[in-house]
Amino acid sequence: MKKFIFSIVVLLFSMTGFTRQTPSLSQQEKDGILYMREEEKLARDVYDSLFIKWGGRPFANIRQSEQYHMDRMKTLITTYGLEDPVVKTNDRHGIFRNASLQTFYNELVRTGGSSFTEALKTGAQIEEQDIADLEKRMKQTQKQDIIAVYDYLKMASGNHLRAFVRRLNMQGIPYEPVILSKADFDKIIGGA
Ligand code: MN
Ligand code: MN
Repeated sequence: MKKFIFSIVVLLFSMTGFTRQTPSLSQQEKDGILYMREEEKLARDVYDSLFIKWGGRPFANIRQSEQYHMDRMKTLITTYGLEDPVVKTNDRHGIFRNASLQTFYNELVRTGGSSFTEALKTGAQIEEQDIADLEKRMKQTQKQDIIAVYDYLKMASGNHLRAFVRRLNMQGIPYEPVILSKADFDKIIGGA
């Protein structure tokens, strides 16, 4: 009898384990994940284009890291059972479900194609936009797994922004922020 009760208890425990639901997301949280998944794709695809046009450094390395960021976002999409916009487009180069990201992509590839200096500025602008969007989306969730991914992506964007700005400065070209506040920008540039 004791053994029987024990096995019932074990069974009940395992059942609650099986039926445990992934915590549900608000519409804002879902939108945030899908948007950031495509924004990381935008970064990767723009750097791919700039790499073809202007060659390796710094675009090739940074491109690799954007692929990794896309993968991190994919993990969240899988965890929460969302429909991946990148799957819907077969991950075709430069094609996005989100209309504003599509417009932004077209614009960035055009300006970044005009000169190497413009390409570096394009990179800096992508990273600024990424940081601003990640900060915004981070405020819309309490979920630690989502915040951790956003936080990581933001840290990486800071590294990329510094790399582009440093490269511009090496060529004697100053860079002023176009999306972030001067104070936020200076803090990132001054950071390690
Ligand atoms: Mn990124
Ligand atoms: Mn980046």
